[in-house]
Amino acid sequence: MTSTISINDSQRLQLSPLEVPNRLLLGPGPSNAHPAVLQAMNTTPLGHLDPSFLALMDEIQSLLRYVWQTENPHTIAVSGTGTAAMEATLANTVEPGDVVLIGVAGYFGNRLVDMAGRYGGDVRTITKPWGQVFSLDEIKTALETHKPAIFALVHAETSTGARQPLEGVGELCRKHGTLLLLDTVTSLGGVPIFLDEWGVDLAYSCSQKGLGCSPGASPFTMSPRAMEKVQKRETKVANWYLDMLLLGKYWGSDRTYHHTAPINLYYGLREALRLVAEEGLASCWQRHQKNVEYLWEQLESIGLKMHVAKEYRLPTLTTVCIPDGVDGKAVARQLLLEHNIEVGGGLGELAGKVWRVGLMGFNSRPESVDRLVEALKEVLS
Ligand code: PLP
Repeated sequence: MTSTISINDSQRLQLSPLEVPNRLLLGPGPSNAHPAVLQAMNTTPLGHLDPSFLALMDEIQSLLRYVWQTENPHTIAVSGTGTAAMEATLANTVEPGDVVLIGVAGYFGNRLVDMAGRYGGDVRTITKPWGQVFSLDEIKTALETHKPAIFALVHAETSTGARQPLEGVGELCRKHGTLLLLDTVTSLGGVPIFLDEWGVDLAYSCSQKGLGCSPGASPFTMSPRAMEKVQKRETKVANWYLDMLLLGKYWGSDRTYHHTAPINLYYGLREALRLVAEEGLASCWQRHQKNVEYLWEQLESIGLKMHVAKEYRLPTLTTVCIPDGVDGKAVARQLLLEHNIEVGGGLGELAGKVWRVGLMGFNSRPESVDRLVEALKEVLS
C-alpha cells in the first residue's frame, strides 16, 4: 500500500562525514582523551550481559577502588555524566525530612543544594567566599549545630580552583552519625584522594577530566554505612535509573538487566583506569602537581595572577585573574579560534573575573603549558 503521507525533507541535511577541529582542551573539562582510550572506544561493542563484558565491568570496579583508595564493595560507573553520579548519591540516601548539610564555596556546592532539596532533604548550608575553603573548626561547629544525616563537600571546586582539605572531617562525621559525601569530579586521578582513610561514605566523579576518558561513564562509590541507610529506607528511591538497589543487581552477582550499558564508553573508562594503574597513583598525582606548578610559574612570568591562595590551589584546575582592562571572553575566543586552545571563563560570582585553565589527565604535560603560554603572550600583546 502506498502511503498518502508525503515525507517532509526540510531537515534532511546532506552532510559530509564528521570532521571536528583539533582542539587542545585546557578548560574545566572535558579534557582531551588519551589516544589509547580513543582507540579502545573504537572497538566492536559486546552485549551488555556478555561474560567478556561482565569481566570488564569487574575490572572497572577494582580499578575505581584503586584510584579512589577504597575497599567499598559498591563501587561502579554510572551511565551518564558526573551530574548523574552526583544525583545518584543524593537520590539514594536522602529521605524526605533528612537534614542535609552542604558546604557551599562555589557553583557545584549550589548544585548539590538544589538537588538535595528536590529529594525532600531539609537542606542547611555553610558558605565561604568563592576561592576559599572550610576549616576543620568551621565544619565541627556546623556539624554540632545541624547534626545532619548527610554532610556534603566539594573536594575540588571547579568554579573556583580551590581544594577542600578533608583530614579530620570523616572522624567528626562519625561522631554525629553523619554520612560524609564528597564530590571528586575534578580531583579523581589528579589530586591525592584517600576515601577510606578520610572516612568518606559517598563519592562520585566523572570520566572526562583526571582520568583522561570521554564523558559519559561516571564513577560512584558508597560505603557499607551508606548502603545500610539505603537498605533501611522507608520510601523507594525516587529515581528509577539511579536506584543503587536495582543497579547493584547488574553490577553485582545477579547480573540482571537494568539498562543497556554504554559499552564503548566502558571500554574507554577501563583503558583510562588501566593507564592510571600502569603509571601508578603516586606518579600520576606528582605529574599533575609538577605540571601545574610549571603553569603557575609561566603565567606569573607574563604578569598574570592566580585567584586562589597557593596552599589551596588545585593541581587540576587553576583560576587565573583576568587583568584590568582585558576582555576575558574575547581572549578566550581568540585562543580557541586562532590557536585551537580552549580555556574556560568564570562561573557565577567569578564570571568575567577569571579564566579557568585545566591540566587534567592526558593534558597534564609541559607541552600543554608551553602551547598555552605562547598563545597567551601573542593574544595579550
Ligand atoms: N561537580 C563538579 C565539581 C564539576 O566540576 C562538574 C562538572 O564539571 C560536575 C559536578 C558535573 O559533571 P558533568 O558536567 O560531567 O555532569
